[in-house]
Amino acid sequence: MENEGDILYIVVPCYNEEEMLPITAKALAKKLSALKQAGRISEKSKVMFIDDGSKDKTWEGIEKLNLISSDFTGIKLSRNRGHQNALLAGLMTAKKYADVTISMDADLQDDVNAIDSFLDKYYGGCDIVYGVRSSRKTDTAFKRNTARAYYKLLEKMGVEITYDHADYRLLSRRALDALEQFREVNLFLRGLVPLVGFRSDVVKYVRNEREKGESKYPLKKMAAFAIEGITSLSIKPIRFITFIGIFVFLVSIILLIRFFAVWCMGKTVEGWATIVISIWGIGGLQLLAIGIIGEYIGKIYLETKNRPRYIIETDLNDKKQ
Ligand code: UDP
Ligand code: MG
Repeated sequence: MENEGDILYIVVPCYNEEEMLPITAKALAKKLSALKQAGRISEKSKVMFIDDGSKDKTWEGIEKLNLISSDFTGIKLSRNRGHQNALLAGLMTAKKYADVTISMDADLQDDVNAIDSFLDKYYGGCDIVYGVRSSRKTDTAFKRNTARAYYKLLEKMGVEITYDHADYRLLSRRALDALEQFREVNLFLRGLVPLVGFRSDVVKYVRNEREKGESKYPLKKMAAFAIEGITSLSIKPIRFITFIGIFVFLVSIILLIRFFAVWCMGKTVEGWATIVISIWGIGGLQLLAIGIIGEYIGKIYLETKNRPRYIIETDLNDKKQ
């Protein structure tokens, strides 16, 4: 076979996606075979599904796809570890078999046709290509606005991040080898990948609506993910607290001087409202400060344990030979 392209693995984390799986598999198989026919990727290229400890029939679905066609392979995690860990498990496993990977969600919200442009950039010499949404029309106004505010906040915290980029991205094996060296347990991949370096580029695409099933990111998980993003990549909140502390201390000294002056002039003590407000205000600040510091200590606690970030139960690629 002459002029064969590189081996591409499309890595797709799945959690309770039995409804989407057949639809996604079909769309990706079509794309894969078009790319193979055009000689842009190797015949050995595959779609790799990661079952993130689903409670429904997702894994059975993946096994079935793997039996039907060599286009599909999969790994099963020993339990649910969350999107970021599942994605990392997939990428690190795919690295064993592939020259280049593209990660995407199982719900086809990311436009499959952007893969062509991803590969253009990759063959043009990029190690990392970020998929960026050109519009957020399909999101609710609430999600759109909170997301925008959040990206701004991340920027302020000094986290380098690509605006409106989720986890639809291409990574070369070289970039994956580098990513593997980041050993942290608290994972926020989209903040970590820019730290890897290498030549990178951006591909814009229109994000669709989820066809079947519901979002696996309810508000609570989203909020946890947002806090993870800041606290795993920035220590500015702690520094911020130090500044508030200094400020509050200065204010108290100014107040002290003022009260002393008033006392010297022989006036009686002013109303107790000021005192009560100060107690509540400072008490609140202290609790907040302790909370934020606790957040970081919790992170340190988890990191020092150095637990595995995921455990693979089955790798269908291993089973074959
Ligand atoms: N996902 C996962 N583990 C989880 C939660 C989600 O692997 O614990 C996967 C999910 O199957 C999907 C992707 O992560 O492929 C993104 O989830 P979803 O589409 O529900 O998030 P949204 O697009 O609503 O932010
Ligand atoms: Mg989605």
